[in-house]
This record gives sequence, structure tokens and C-alpha cells, in this order.
Amino acid sequence: MTDYDILIVGGGVMGSSTAYHLRRADPAASVAVVERDSTYQRASTVLSDGNVRVQFNLEENILISQHTLEVLETFATDMATSTYQPDPGVKRQGNLFTVTRDGEPWAIKGLETQVALGCRVEWLDGQEISNRFPRYENAGLVGGTLGDDDGSVDPTAVLRGYRSKAIELGAVFIKSEVAALSMEANGVAGASTTSGESISARQVLVAAGAWSTRLLGDAGITIPVLPYMRTVYVVSTPFEVTGLPSIFLPNGVYLIGESENMWLMGLSQPDDPIGFDFTPASRERFEERIWPGLVKHLPQFDKLTIERSWAGLYAVNGLDHNAIIGRWPSTENLYLATGFSGHGFQQAPAVGRYLSELLLGQPHVLDLSRLGPQRIVDNRPLHEHPGRVI
Ligand SMILES: Cc1cc2nc3c(=O)[nH]c(=O)nc-3n(C[C@H](O)[C@H](O)[C@H](O)COP(=O)(O)OP(=O)(O)OC[C@H]3O[C@@H](n4cnc5c(N)ncnc54)[C@H](O)[C@@H]3O)c2cc1C
Repeated sequence: MTDYDILIVGGGVMGSSTAYHLRRADPAASVAVVERDSTYQRASTVLSDGNVRVQFNLEENILISQHTLEVLETFATDMATSTYQPDPGVKRQGNLFTVTRDGEPWAIKGLETQVALGCRVEWLDGQEISNRFPRYENAGLVGGTLGDDDGSVDPTAVLRGYRSKAIELGAVFIKSEVAALSMEANGVAGASTTSGESISARQVLVAAGAWSTRLLGDAGITIPVLPYMRTVYVVSTPFEVTGLPSIFLPNGVYLIGESENMWLMGLSQPDDPIGFDFTPASRERFEERIWPGLVKHLPQFDKLTIERSWAGLYAVNGLDHNAIIGRWPSTENLYLATGFSGHGFQQAPAVGRYLSELLLGQPHVLDLSRLGPQRIVDNRPLHEHPGRVI
């Protein structure tokens, strides 16, 4: 039996960031992270698009991303160890969220909150968008919000950065799979692994991504988080485009430039499969559901080649599509970090810091308590805004 102050189940970007913040804040706290796959083949973190945006409507989500943008500035040097220096590959291409008449009030409301918090976001009407980005055709859209700070980074480098720095600071990464949490009267005593080891801990954090629901369910804790399979298509075009921001169409189709002629594309849909299959959606689905909407607004994209595709899991919080972070109310020492619903990668710096503060009983730099699990128990959603599912 091994014994730790804090045990983290899952060493994706959330588990690794939390381990880093814990050891940095309190070098005396013993921290173990149980991660079953050090290659992270199916972890949502490495399968994500790595997009970071301040364009949210909830204040917490905006402040979380502002912190991430700040952290990324010096991430490479802050996370450097004697053997590894991560290159997060920060690209600030901007995000353009286009809207129809119906979506306009929510976009404006979000914009006002973002600007009040100091974000560089502006409203462009349809004509201004076409003027600024000549390849873009208005085709019935009233306009959109352009966030100049938004961009994309390499999620694997960020994960590796947090993980290797946490290890250098003294966190222990155990390569094993947690089979079950060891529940007791008022909380949790640790966990047992599939190889038969028992690990005891004074506090346990479940940060097992889309796999958290089953682990918690077996321990008698029900959360409304389901694993939705999302496919990312990598497409190339026979022409090159520079200066185009990432574009998010009102129907959810997105286009993120990887290089001048290589793009990531996808669309979250309510009928995306739920489960752990990892087979990407078909090319036909791309042709039927994504391509026509894209070509309507960016006609040049009628010529493209699907180079490859992959599928990864959104841990979708069915209550309100927002993170569930904090202590589970009916327990004294079991904490959750899941349900990030497609925007969790960019939340790892602030969420890791917040969880570390909670676990160590320290004051919060950024109060994220509204994203806590109590709202799940109370069935009290904290919506971003209706209609945007990405
Ligand atoms: C296609 C796609 C695109 C995305 N795009 C973006 C984006 O642009 N921007 C953004 O912010 N977010 C994006 N996301 C969401 C983002 O990837 C996730 O919210 C975030 O990575 C969640 O991190 P995590 O550490 O909670 O989960 P994960 O990265 O999934 O890590 C969980 C870890 O737990 C381990 N684990 C699970 N069960 C056990 C167990 N029983 N024992 C031991 N280990 C276990 C797993 O092996 C895994 O490594 C995207 C997601 C997908 C799928």
C-alpha cells in the first residue's frame, strides 16, 4: 500500500496541470497521478484542436482564457526542465464567430462582457467581414465577432510541459489504471488499480476526462457527462490563404488554419456517436454536413482534399455544457474535474491552479466556485448561452 496526500486519477492536461500547481504551491504535499497511458493515444487533450479563445459569454470562462493567454507567453521557459523545453507553438490568427440574425443578441452581449474585461474583440458587420477577408462571402450572415487575441497552440506540448515540470517538482506519475475508488462513510480513502495495487490518499481528484463518469458511477456518484465522439478532418486546398482567422459558422462548422493550405475542420452534432469507439466519421458525412455550409461562405473551398481524420471524445456535461470542478458535496475529500464539453484544453492553467488552491485550502486567485458540482446536485445549469455548441 502506498500513501499520498493527494491522488489524481488521470494525467491528461487537467491532472498534469493540477499536479504542477500543487507541487509548486506546496513542495511538502505528496502528489501521485495515476495515468494508464503515457503515450496519451486516446486522451482528449492530444486529440483536441488546441484552440484558445476569450470569446465566451460567462465571465468565468473569459477570465480563465485570459489567464491561459498570459501563461502561454512564458510557458516554454516556465515549464523548461533539464531534459525538455516545450514549444507550445502559439499562433494568434484570431477567431471569427459569425452569426445569423437570431444569434446576434448573444454575440453582442458576449462581446460587451469580453470588452469590459479588457479583451480585444470587435464586431464586424457582414460587409466589413467581406472587405477585410475578401474570400469570405456574406451569404445571409449579419456579421460576427473577431477576437484578435484568440488562436491555437499545440496541446501535446502543453500537456508534456505540465507533466514533465510536475515530475521535476516531485509529483509521482504512476503508470497504471484505476479500477475503482475506495469509498468510505464520508468520502474516499484512495483507489485500487487493475493490477491489484491499493493507493491511499487523504484527498482524491478524479480528472479522468470522459472516463470519469463510469469511475464515479461505480462509486455511487452520478454526473450528467457523456463521451461524445467528435471527428476532426484535416483538409488541404490547392490554393494558399494567408491572414484568414479561424472561422466558426453559425451552424457550428469551424475552420482552423494549420498552414497556408492545410486546415482543421469539424462540426459538433447532436447525433454524434456516444461511446469509446474512436472510429472517425465518414467522408460522406463531411461531404453532406460540413462542406456545403463552408462553400456557401468560402466558395474557394469547393476544391479540397481530405488528407486524414481522427476522432476524440468531448466529455459533454448535459446539464449546461460547462466544466464541473470542485469537491463533490456529499463527500469530505473527493474532487472532480470533468465535463469540459469541448473547451477544456484552454482551461487547464486556471483550473489546475484553482483545484490546487482548493485541495491545499488556499485562497483563490480566480473564484471558479460557480462551476462547482453543487449545481449538478441542485440541477441548476450555468449556461454559456443557448445555441453555441462547439
Ligand atoms: C476533437 C476535439 C477537439 C477539441 N478542441 C478543443 C479546443 O480547440 N480547445 C479546447 O479548449 N478544448 C478542446 N477540446 C476539449 C479538450 O480536449 C478537453 O476538454 C481537455 O483536453 C480535457 O482534458 P482532461 O485532462 O480532462 O482529459 P483527457 O485529456 O482525456 O485526460 C484524461 C486522462 O485520464 C486517463 N484515464 C482515464 N481513466 C483512467 C483510469 N481509470 N485510470 C488511469 N488513467 C485514466 C486517460 O488515459 C487520459 O490520459 C477538444 C476535444 C476534442 C475531442
